[in-house]
Amino acid sequence: AYNFSAGPAVLPVSVLEQVRDEMMCLPGSRCSLLEMSHRDKVFIDILHDAENTVRSLMGISDDYAVLFLQGGAALQFSMIPANLLAGSGKSAAYIQTGVWGKKAIAEAKKEGDVNVVYDAAESNFNHVPGSGDYSVSDDSAYLYFCNNETIQGVQFQDEPACPAGVPLVCDASSDFMHKPVDINKYGLMYACAQKNAGPAGVTVVVIRRDLLDRGSKTLPGYLQYKNHADADSEWNTPPTFAIWVLGKVARWLQDDIGGLEAIEKLNRQKSSLLYDAIDQSGGFYTGHAKPDCRSLMNVTFTLPNDDLQAAFIAEAAANDLVALKGHRSVGGIRASVYNAMPLEGAKALAQLMNDFASKNA
Ligand code: PLP
Repeated sequence: AYNFSAGPAVLPVSVLEQVRDEMMCLPGSRCSLLEMSHRDKVFIDILHDAENTVRSLMGISDDYAVLFLQGGAALQFSMIPANLLAGSGKSAAYIQTGVWGKKAIAEAKKEGDVNVVYDAAESNFNHVPGSGDYSVSDDSAYLYFCNNETIQGVQFQDEPACPAGVPLVCDASSDFMHKPVDINKYGLMYACAQKNAGPAGVTVVVIRRDLLDRGSKTLPGYLQYKNHADADSEWNTPPTFAIWVLGKVARWLQDDIGGLEAIEKLNRQKSSLLYDAIDQSGGFYTGHAKPDCRSLMNVTFTLPNDDLQAAFIAEAAANDLVALKGHRSVGGIRASVYNAMPLEGAKALAQLMNDFASKNA
């Protein structure tokens, strides 16, 4: 079946096959990775290879640390303000364009002063702001935004405007490595892996090294970025299995797909097929996001009524197109077409959308 789940989500078939083949005994060792010490050289090599592949795909220089942490994206909602806001005497600017930004703001408020500089809630989060729609003080601890709101399917097309000297902080959980980015524009970018980068259990944090020292030494040790950077992501036992698979996904992106420009092209092809089906349905499907901020990853739309929605989901499942039900806050359908969704999957769904609209309009 083609799996349109928003996360944990589709993985490349070749990666799943490798995991199956190597699960009992890791090449170069005498045991399964699941049984291996995280200090074993074989695992350390896996960790370094995963880090180096992510660095080379994204063009990340040594000015940044790349950390593999636990606690999901949700822990970053707290770790970021705990390290970069608490005790700074400043306030942090937040742009709210969906549910995940909203949750991040609620957690940040527990750590310090938060200034929501833009809030798209009144439109039920169907757009992102333009650069003239908000302003950020030069004195902010950082500017935080979520590049792709997974539930609403709205995505920034470029980085939001941010004053020079204010670190830009990005939740890239649902679109990490979906296209080339200039990481030098960011102070910190993070992503839980289970959507676009691997299985649940690991969160990648890319942080500019000068920000590592900002966290108070009285913070619990796990919460201090510096500890993880100094220990090469081995301050405590890291999520070995998730890092192993994430490394394989990164290698697949590099070697099989041909890098981030190639995956962007493919992602645009896949999402265009679905947005075309919406736009050409004569109003049968209604897209949630405004056209200029449609997500390449999560395509959200509704049908004329609940019965048709249920019939669509049932017909899709009968055609091996699964996990299409939208999040309850938006309703309708959400088709997640992350990096690992093959073009054929998007084609099959677009065909079903076209056929279903002609039959039921
Ligand atoms: N941020 C975004 C954009 C997400 O899509 C999600 C999960 O869906 C999260 C944060 C939360 O991730 P986690 O469950 O790993 O904490």
